[in-house]
Amino acid sequence: MTHSTIIVGSGISGLSAAIVLAKHGRTPLVLEAHNIPGGCMQMFQRRGPDGVCRFDTGVHYVGSLYPGQIMWRLFRYLGVSIPGVPLARDCFDRISLPSGEFCVPVGWDNVAAALKRECGNEPDAIDAYVAKMRHVEAALSWHALNPEADGAYDRELFETSLEQFLSGLGVSPRLRSLICAQSSLYAVRAAEVPLAIHAAVIGSAVEGPHYIEGGGDAITKPLVARLRELGGELRLRAPVARVLVDGDRAVGVELSGGEVISGDEVILAVHPRVAARLLPEDAYRTALRQRMASAPECVGAFVVYGTVSPDADLTGVTGRNHYLLRDDDPDCFYEPQLDGPGDAIVNLPPAGNGPQLFSAMGSARWEWFERWSDTRTLKRDAEYKALKDRITANIVAMVQQRIPALRGHLNVVDASTPLTLRDYAGYPQGGVYGVQPSLRAQGRNGVRRRTRYAGLYVTGAGTGTPGILGACVTGFGVAGTILGTDELISEVRQATDLS
Ligand SMILES: Cc1cc2nc3c(=O)[nH]c(=O)nc-3n(C[C@H](O)[C@H](O)[C@H](O)COP(=O)(O)OP(=O)(O)OC[C@H]3O[C@@H](n4cnc5c(N)ncnc54)[C@H](O)[C@@H]3O)c2cc1C
Repeated sequence: MTHSTIIVGSGISGLSAAIVLAKHGRTPLVLEAHNIPGGCMQMFQRRGPDGVCRFDTGVHYVGSLYPGQIMWRLFRYLGVSIPGVPLARDCFDRISLPSGEFCVPVGWDNVAAALKRECGNEPDAIDAYVAKMRHVEAALSWHALNPEADGAYDRELFETSLEQFLSGLGVSPRLRSLICAQSSLYAVRAAEVPLAIHAAVIGSAVEGPHYIEGGGDAITKPLVARLRELGGELRLRAPVARVLVDGDRAVGVELSGGEVISGDEVILAVHPRVAARLLPEDAYRTALRQRMASAPECVGAFVVYGTVSPDADLTGVTGRNHYLLRDDDPDCFYEPQLDGPGDAIVNLPPAGNGPQLFSAMGSARWEWFERWSDTRTLKRDAEYKALKDRITANIVAMVQQRIPALRGHLNVVDASTPLTLRDYAGYPQGGVYGVQPSLRAQGRNGVRRRTRYAGLYVTGAGTGTPGILGACVTGFGVAGTILGTDELISEVRQATDLS
């Protein structure tokens, strides 16, 4: 059987593209290498002291989810209802630095006011920063749902780093620290992140931060159900080994077991380095292909998972994330150390009926774990476990130091390393968001959705902005490349207009 569209990868980008195309009469087949769908949205369970708990991998909180905002509108267009719980409006992200704390409130006006209270001598720089963030968000056509927006072609947004911009404003070290403190949401240093990425990711968090009740499952399951309702298919344990072409057209894929599946269109919704392996040699010009194949990976993720004992007083602790950084310069997150305490981004999702869960994400070097790269999850030796325990202790030490209410109340259940992400999401070096969304991989240097072959496309977070919203936008983006971008943006706009 020939499918109209084969989509490789069942992360949010692949599923979103599949649903949009199914809504336009295609019969998409999504092929997923793993035995569960969702990519970074997949959840896992472990037995803790309070019974079996389900933990999230890559959905700790999601931005722009208030009605009418862009994430809400994309989910609505896809036809899924996602249960969001708003984070604390006065302090959705609590920044903890050696020099003191700062609460990031919801909404740019409130952020500006909070920054002015903290850095009273810099009102003009703060106003200029917030105005720039708003300008950039409005210039990104998908984020603004405006086909006329020209941000994608605005070289300044993709070729100016946040550091350059802040230096130009002459900000103080303290103001720089507060502005850069949430950089782990895209995992690039201030000197290397384009303004466009910082504005898109932080802006979405600032304007509409929500937990997802039920975690990643609460997004993946409705998306898969919707895909099937529209006549699309999802096949698990289907690792694609290569894309097949005939003349100047894509004609299907070959699975690693040798099975051939024919299709008129093929979309790779995977890590760009994986895409580079699956594509024909000449799908892109040599320079771009080489950039994709050697694209620098984000710093590795090391995440500690556990529960909080029921007798802990969590007033003022839940309903927000905690960014605990060991240095006033947030770039410390990109210089992980084996000696603690270690940086930690702490997330405490709504407890529901079960125990209060927590996750604490730190950073780790791939090189620390590389010697086990020929081994598989759950089959690694005592030395690997000892290294995990050491980094876990560093992160727990930081959490207990900076969040006193959790002192003595944390029950660690497990931890994931960069190898875990490699094994479960196919990220070659376990970088937290895959390829770094840096100046070297964005704008003119970015991966093109269209290849030299008709019907062959590449998408996924690594081709745009990391995060659930960013990856979902790339799914819509590739569908737009096929169906007509301006038409699709206008259609989404009209279909989800609240006025
Ligand atoms: C630790 C962590 C925390 C995060 N926290 C947040 C957060 O709080 N909020 C937020 O918005 N974002 C967060 N993210 C980021 C977000 O989850 C991702 O950016 C997003 O889900 C990526 O989606 P994607 O569609 O690009 O691809 P992925 O989710 O990476 O999916 C790609 C899929 O392709 C499959 N695949 C790969 N190769 C093949 C092949 N050859 N054949 C078939 N299938 C293949 C993989 O198995 C995988 O399922 C987090 C990520 C991580 C790792």
